[in-house]
Formats: sequence, structure tokens, C-alpha cells
Amino acid sequence: MTKYVYAFDEGQKDMKDLLGGKGANLSEMKRLSLPVPDGFTITTEACINYLKQGETLSDEVVQQLADQLEAFSLRTGKAFSSDEQLLLVSVRSGAKISMPGMMDTILNLGLNDDNVKKLAEKTGDARFAYDCYRRLLQMFGEVVYGIPMTAFDTYFNTFKQEHNYTNDADISAEGLQDICEHYKTIYLEEVRKPFPQDPQKQLLEAVEAVFKSWDNDRARVYRDLNDIPHTIGTAVNVQEMVFGNSGSNSGTGVAFTRDPGTGENKLFGEYLLNAQGEDVVAGIRTPQDISTLKDQMPHVHQEFVDVSKRLETHYKDMQDIEFTIENGKLYLLQTRNGKRTAKAAINIAVDLVEEGILTKAEAITKVDVKSIDTLLHPTFKPEALEAAEVISKAGLPASPGAATGHIVFSAETAKLRAESGEKVILMRPETSPEDIEGMIASEAIVTTHGGMTSHAAVVARGMGKCCVTGCSDLEINTTAKTVTYQGKTLNENDMISVDGAKGDIYLGEIATTNAEHSPSFDQLMQWSEEIARLNVRMNAETKSDIEMGYQFNAKGIGLVRTEHMFFGAERLVEMRRFILSSDDATRIEALNKIRENQTEDFEQIFRLSGERPTIVRLLDPPLHEFLPRSAEEMTSVAQQLSISERELKQRMDELHETNPMLGHRGCRLAITYPELYVMQTEAMMGSVARLKQEGITCQPEIMIPLVSTVEEFNILKSQITDTITELESQHGKLPHLIGTMIETPRACMIAGQLAKVCDFFSFGTNDLTQLTYGFSRDDAGKFINDYINQEILPIDPFQTIDVDGVGALIRMAVEQAKAQNTSLKIGVCGELGGDPKSIHFFNGLDIDYVSCSPFRVPGAILATAQSEVESGR
Ligand code: PEP
Ligand code: MG
Repeated sequence: MTKYVYAFDEGQKDMKDLLGGKGANLSEMKRLSLPVPDGFTITTEACINYLKQGETLSDEVVQQLADQLEAFSLRTGKAFSSDEQLLLVSVRSGAKISMPGMMDTILNLGLNDDNVKKLAEKTGDARFAYDCYRRLLQMFGEVVYGIPMTAFDTYFNTFKQEHNYTNDADISAEGLQDICEHYKTIYLEEVRKPFPQDPQKQLLEAVEAVFKSWDNDRARVYRDLNDIPHTIGTAVNVQEMVFGNSGSNSGTGVAFTRDPGTGENKLFGEYLLNAQGEDVVAGIRTPQDISTLKDQMPHVHQEFVDVSKRLETHYKDMQDIEFTIENGKLYLLQTRNGKRTAKAAINIAVDLVEEGILTKAEAITKVDVKSIDTLLHPTFKPEALEAAEVISKAGLPASPGAATGHIVFSAETAKLRAESGEKVILMRPETSPEDIEGMIASEAIVTTHGGMTSHAAVVARGMGKCCVTGCSDLEINTTAKTVTYQGKTLNENDMISVDGAKGDIYLGEIATTNAEHSPSFDQLMQWSEEIARLNVRMNAETKSDIEMGYQFNAKGIGLVRTEHMFFGAERLVEMRRFILSSDDATRIEALNKIRENQTEDFEQIFRLSGERPTIVRLLDPPLHEFLPRSAEEMTSVAQQLSISERELKQRMDELHETNPMLGHRGCRLAITYPELYVMQTEAMMGSVARLKQEGITCQPEIMIPLVSTVEEFNILKSQITDTITELESQHGKLPHLIGTMIETPRACMIAGQLAKVCDFFSFGTNDLTQLTYGFSRDDAGKFINDYINQEILPIDPFQTIDVDGVGALIRMAVEQAKAQNTSLKIGVCGELGGDPKSIHFFNGLDIDYVSCSPFRVPGAILATAQSEVESGR
């Protein structure tokens, strides 16, 4: 019989797949004898079955739930039906990977018209009892029956206004009792059924609702964004309630064991006295800093400090802990590895090594490769910042970054406007999980309410998105679409800038500057390089990109795309003259001009690379990219080339291709026009010879693209070799390698034969994916999402390797090639060379390096090292 329900003392931290992160960690904390209210977990497997079986709980699950409830009652001595020892529980979701705020929670379950009276009697606090009941009615109504929260909130706020109550805490017990009565009528109006009075029924319906919430829209969007599979389901945790809202000696809060923004080693968190959990997260009341708890409840503060150190050392990571204080006693409701900024992640990982808690290998696995990107993001230029008008400095630095955009006041508008290419900043009083798509679409998020652990802050930090929360000096009116500051008004569309690292908002657009390296970043990169087996090179051809890649410690250049050197106006003319002229003399003249330019380009590249290996790929342009398109362009090109428009048109018709991606490109072009690659070789090796005279040794690697037969390669190789031999007769030995790109399926199939005549291979995974699937690289975007949504493909194969198809071809090619030529150097230079999951696959093959764009180099170095650690080599 499958076990679907586990008591907390039956689980442990390694059971996240089955018990979800929250369930596994609650069990673990119980095992460590920490103060955790008792409870049990219904497994993710039960959720998966529930969703598969058309949203019905199986008899087995219902029976196990009833049995567990009985055992739970025995352990706690409490029951839903007991007069003296009333049992009330919370019901919370908890997937394997945390998805903050994306699924549902119900507190105070077990209350009904009778039990609320018992609670009032037992605690002697009717106000407290009815406050709990109205919260249950609200949460249960929304989560289980889908009643809009506004239906409850509108009544609640009107009630407060009518009775002149400023704070929720001012409402009397009788008032809350009236509110509860009214809430029950809302059930009848909205869903035509009463609030269920039977706690067992409440529990079953709540469990089902949490299971269903796995599939709600916001949870799906969040999972897509964070690469979380849709198939793993959520667990449900049922836990005895402890009440942070049972008086001034009670409270609830969330704290991180280190600062999640900077990584500083100090407790960082917030709490609210006399409040229930959701109050802090929802950001409705502004909480107090955790440090003030020391004055208010010194013994609780000390206990919390001790517990957080213990948990951090036990989990070997910074923890995000939820706690409740009930009448002066501390309870832990959750611990998990805390979400943090990239900067904090790196600082924490390095500090934990220095504190002896982590090894270097463990430390590098703690940093998410994706988050490295955010570290390399720009910040505002200090001079520009000084000159800018401040709108607010009252906000909290919830998630770093420097963003500029037009103000929008709703998530839908953010999404629409971003889709049409605009940069927008979402301004809201507070965000809720429904806003997720608008948050993704925005450059930054600004709220007037809420603290560092509010929904906006937690979600934005997780996304690496710039965010400022709690700008209490701004007034946002989402109906009028205005925001007021210092007596002035901004409207939708006005431009603002947001500094997420400081929490400041400015008027207008502010210039940015590139990110700097921190010592911890350099340290982590150094450890990664020590551990990594694969080298990381860069794909680059401009001076600034090459310098950037070398700053990031790229080990050479894996791909210079020479066709990118022809896009400047002057060069384009000569290239067009070469392609479009029909007489040899004009063609040779054009080629000579191109040679001069190319020699200068190559000299700059080899000077920057020095002894580091540098692959120059010979020309691979789909020809149509060089041809004029509009009528005006046609006229001006005809003039530049001194030919008639009619002649130009005729030549263009001759060159027209139906499928340029499958056409006259790559090495095929050089088979027709051998002088092209000869010219490029002369330019390249000519610059190597010049540098040799200056005493600079280079390592050029000449790469022939889009090869699919050994004969193609041999013909071109011999032309290149002849050209180099000629140059060597004047300049002496010029070091070089000659190799090919492997980017057609046929090249993979004959890799063994190619390996015998090549010095190196570089896998061009962009074309190889295109040609393996038969998906056009340029058009796949039109349908790939349909494939992903219909679960035909798990992921876009142009972004992450298709292990079974493209991956299998690469594996086979590497094995065959190495069997023929053990000294063959092998790399990957397509986009997949910078993707962490693909890098993990490549690390398992007998290859030497991956190559990617300069900004992706640090991430790729980290990913290669992580893969090495994860493979346990
Ligand atoms: C490739 O095909 O993977 C490659 C790197 O070449 P390009 O993208 O220039 O075709
Ligand atoms: Mg290619």
C-alpha cells in the first residue's frame, strides 16, 4: 500500500520529492527537537494522482488522512470536537522547490459557529476568537470556493469606516462577530452554499483546494519562469495552529539568517506583534525590524538567534525562517534556504567557506548560474544620479538593479506595453501573486506598502528584478492612474528611474554604468576555475567584447565570426562589389580592399589574444544578408557600384535563394569562390606574421564552416595550406591549426573520417539543432511555444540541448573522432555553449572547452565547475 500521509516525525530533510520542501524541513526540525507545532504532510504523489484522476481524492488518501488525524489527536490530546482541548490547524502548500505566494494557505481551520464560542471561552478573549473566525471565513472562501477577496475586504473596510475604526485592532468582539455573520451571507450570495460547519469536511475541501492551486495560472507562470517542472505537484502540510494574534505578548515574523541583499552576517527580518502570519507577507501593516525584538522580548530574541545559527550550520546555508510567538513562547513554522541577490549569494558562499561550514566545492554549488547575470548588470552613473530629481528615498532596497521606464499602474498594462517593446515600471500599492506576469514584463517594481519580505520583494528578488517596496511618501491612485509625491503628480507614461540597491526613485531617465567585480566574486571564480575541467572561451570579434571576455578570464576565443566584420558601411560596399560584379577584375579589386581591412581586424584580435588560442571562422554569410532590400537601397547600391539598377536587379535575381539558410553559404561559398578563403587566410596569417616581427606569438586556429563532406574540407584545407606555405617562405614558420565546425548531421556521421584530416572540431549547435530538427533558426520562435505548451518538447532546443537527438549526434561524433585522432581539440561554440544545463551535458563528453558570448563567460565557468562537482569526479 502506498503511504500518502506522513506525520512530521516520520520524515526528514532528504524527502523533498515526496514531502515538498516545507514538509521535509518541518520534519527535519522536529528531528532536531526544535520547537515546531506538530502536524503531518500529505505527499506530492497524492497531489499528482489527484490532478491525474480528474480532481478526486482517492478512498485510500481519504482513509489515511482520517487515520493520521486520529493519531495526531492522540499525540496532541486535542480534537476538532473537544470542548476543553480544541484542535485548530493550518493547511499550507509546499512544493519541492519553493514558490512563494503562488499557491494557497488556510489558517484557523476547524473553527465553526460552535468552536468559535469554545475558543472565546477558553482564551477568555472573544475578540481574538472572532478575529480568527473571520480570517478563516475569508481565506477559506477565497481559496476553496473562489470568492473574490474584495467581496470580504469591501465589507470589512466599510464596516471600519462606518464605526470610525482606524486600525483592525480597534474593532470590538461584537463588531467582529457581526462581520463573521455577514461573511457567511457572502458565501450564499457568491456560491450559493453555506460555509461548511464540519471541520473534517473543511479539511478535505482545503486539501483539495491546495492541490488544485498547483495548476492555477500564476503558479504555472512562476514555474515556467523558474524552470520548475509542472509535473512534480505540491504536498500539503496540516499543522497545529499557534496564534501570533493572541495578544501583545504574541507575534509573527520572517527572518533571514544573513542579509539577503548583501550577504552580511547579521539577522535580517521583520515581525509584527499581535498578528497572524499572512499579515507580514501581505505587507498590509508595516512590520518592525527583528533587532527591536531584543528589547521587547529578550529571551525570545536570544532563543531565535541560537536557533537560526543552529539551522544555518545544519543546512550549511543561509536560512529563511518563519516563526510565531504565542504568549511569549517561540515556535518555528518553516525553514528553507533563503532566496538572495546574486551579490549576497556569492558573499555568503565565500563567507561560509571561511567560517569552515562549507568546502570550496560545496560553495560553488550554492550560487545559481542565472543569478550571475544580474551581478553583471549596470548601475546608475553617480554624476547622473546627483543631477536627477528625487521622487522618493523612503522605500526599501528590496532587489538591486538600475532600471528606467514608463510608469504603469496595472500588471495587464505592463504586459501589453512590454509586448509592444516599451520599457515599463510597475507601480502598485502592493503586489499580489496575480501580478506575476506584469512583474516579469516590467523593468522594475515599486510599491508603497510592504517590507523586505512582502510579496513584491520576495518575488522580485527571486527573479533578479529591480524592486523598491514601502515608498510610504508616495501616493498611488490606480483608478486615476496617478502617483503623487511632494505635492506634485506623475501620470501613466511618465518616465522614472529606480535604484533597487538603495531603494530610491528618481524622475526621468538616468545614465548607467557597468558593474564592478567584488573580491568575493573573484574568489568564487578562482575556486570555480580550480575545480572546472572544461575551459571556457568567448565568441567575440570587437575590441570591447574581447577585452570584456578576457576580463572575465576567458581562455581564448572560440569563435570570431568574420562576416560580422563586414557590416560597416564602407566594407559593405566592397563586399557587395565582390558579390554582385560579374567581371573578375572588379571582383579582385574589391577583394584586395577587403584584404586590407581584414588584416587590420585580425591584427587587433590577435594582439588582444596573444598566446591564447583564437579560432577565426572563415566567411559564413547567407548571401542575402548582404544584398540591398528597399528601393532606395537598390538605387544607392547601383550608384556605389557604378552599375545600372537593371543590372543590379538581374544579378540579385541570379543570386536569389529560396532557403538561404540551406543555400550558398559556409564552405560552399568558397568552393564556388576559392579566392574568398585564400584572401582571408592571407589577411589572417599576414597579421600573425606582422605580430611575429614584434615578438608576439599567436595561436590562430582557422575554422571552415558548414562542412558536410571530407572532400569539401580537403579541397579548402589544401588551398589554405598552400597560401600559408607561400607566406612562410617569406616569414618563416607561422603556427596555426586548421579545423572544422561540426554543424550538419552528416558531419557528425562522418566525424571519424573528418577527425583524420582536422586539427580541431567546434560544434556549431545553432545550425546543428536547426538541421537535426529541420526547424528554421529564424522562424522556430513562431511555433516553439506551442510545442512546449503541448509538452511535445520540454524546452526550446535552441536554448538547452536536446540530449536525445542533437546530444546523441554530438556524443557519437566525439567518440568516433577521438577514436581516430586522440589529439583532436574539441569545443562547442553555438549558443548552448553558455547554457548551464547544456554545459552539464558537454562536461560529460571528452571535449576541451565551451565558448559563449563574453557576458556569459563567468556563468559558464561556474556551470562547468558545478557540473564537475555534481558528477562527483
Ligand atoms: C552555430 O551554428 O552554432 C554557430 C556558432 O554558427 P552561426 O551561429 O554563426 O551559424
Ligand atoms: Mg553555424
